[in-house]
Amino acid sequence: MKNVCDVAVVGLGAMGSAAAYQLAKRGARVIAIDRFDPPHQLGSSGGDTRITRQAIGEGETYTPLALRSYELWREMEALTGQDLLTVTGGLMMTSYSTGSAMHGKADFLGETIRAARKYSVGHEILGTAQIRQKFPQFNLFGDERGYYEPMAGFLRPENCIRAQIGLARRMGTDTRINHKVIAIKKEGSGMLVIAEYAGARSYIYSDKVIISAGAWVNDFLRSRFPGVFKILRQCLFWFDINGSIKPYLIGRFPIFIWVNSNNFIYGFPAIDGLNGGIKVASEETNIIDPDNVNRDVTDAEVESVYAEHIVNRLPGLSPRCIRSKVCMYTVTPDSGFVIDFDPENPNIIMASPCSGHGFKHSAAIGESLAQLALDGRSKIDIGPFSIKRFLT
Ligand SMILES: Cc1cc2nc3c(=O)[nH]c(=O)nc-3n(C[C@H](O)[C@H](O)[C@H](O)COP(=O)(O)OP(=O)(O)OC[C@H]3O[C@@H](n4cnc5c(N)ncnc54)[C@H](O)[C@@H]3O)c2cc1C
Repeated sequence: MKNVCDVAVVGLGAMGSAAAYQLAKRGARVIAIDRFDPPHQLGSSGGDTRITRQAIGEGETYTPLALRSYELWREMEALTGQDLLTVTGGLMMTSYSTGSAMHGKADFLGETIRAARKYSVGHEILGTAQIRQKFPQFNLFGDERGYYEPMAGFLRPENCIRAQIGLARRMGTDTRINHKVIAIKKEGSGMLVIAEYAGARSYIYSDKVIISAGAWVNDFLRSRFPGVFKILRQCLFWFDINGSIKPYLIGRFPIFIWVNSNNFIYGFPAIDGLNGGIKVASEETNIIDPDNVNRDVTDAEVESVYAEHIVNRLPGLSPRCIRSKVCMYTVTPDSGFVIDFDPENPNIIMASPCSGHGFKHSAAIGESLAQLALDGRSKIDIGPFSIKRFLT
């Protein structure tokens, strides 16, 4: 086995698989390493679906990544035959009384509308009566305003990762599965990555290293950037539908994000048949150690999310939780991404685009990571994701 490459990719989840594919597409020699066997359910990319939208309320910088990702998902679907992106339409809404603070932005809805106008993303602005008419499944309180984007929808994260790993392999990428990277060091003018597999060590020599380790980013970066990456436990819930499934099928029910006074809830149409329920989730703030996360969702957690977010908003859903799942967010102090060279070692590229909203951008982030590694700069402006904003 050859242990020399142009770029070593540490972590083959959403970001790493995208980077490996884009690097391989450009003819780079890549060794991509994962401690598990992706796509898996242990990191940030599990749970069947991720919302995607084109006008991005987390900040204008993100919209070009989202738009480019749409193109790349479609390209990959054509190459692999896999089902990656489903357009369902998306409703983002809030109440005038509660405002729409989310993901580090005080006015998520306003930012979404601004981005839609700037990048000509098709949309409708809806008042309470129009939302009621279009989507009677929601129980509105009376002062809602909404943004509807016909091209929003969801991605199948496991399929996206599988497709990109498959394409990367087809183009010659050497993937090391169930290999845990235990050290990344400077070696001459390049890098040395040390990985463990079944008790044996391998030593991989590369020009560049991309660290895309998701919730385990602190294993490599905590000592350099203390306090920048917090890991949070998140729960996903699939609630049963009380009556007919029809009002919740694609075409009648959108992906949605409903921001309320101190939190938000988001969800998806019914895509798993009669007994599959509706997937919904909110956002939690419990900091955890990714190696010791409690992966069981308790009855109290189910009851609490139903009482706080569901019963009054989606009365057609039953309190019966059919399925639940734990995932992990990596969150930065401003809820923005980190995609940057290590300021002390330009051979290291850090990729931590999570904070709960990274998946939709991952295809284009992979392209930007490949450009950073091979050309020294990304075509899409990723300046706002610099680590330097957290260094004082
Ligand atoms: C519950 C939840 C809901 C979300 N909803 C949305 C959404 O609706 N829309 C959206 O756009 N985004 C959403 N996100 C965010 C999105 O899922 C993340 O941005 C994305 O999954 C992050 O990908 P990643 O590559 O950083 O992490 P991962 O996909 O977890 O990949 C990291 C990989 O690194 C590997 N690894 C770690 N340490 C090592 C090591 N030492 N050696 C080798 N390999 C290692 C892991 O095994 C893993 O495979 C959500 C996230 C969560 C958790």
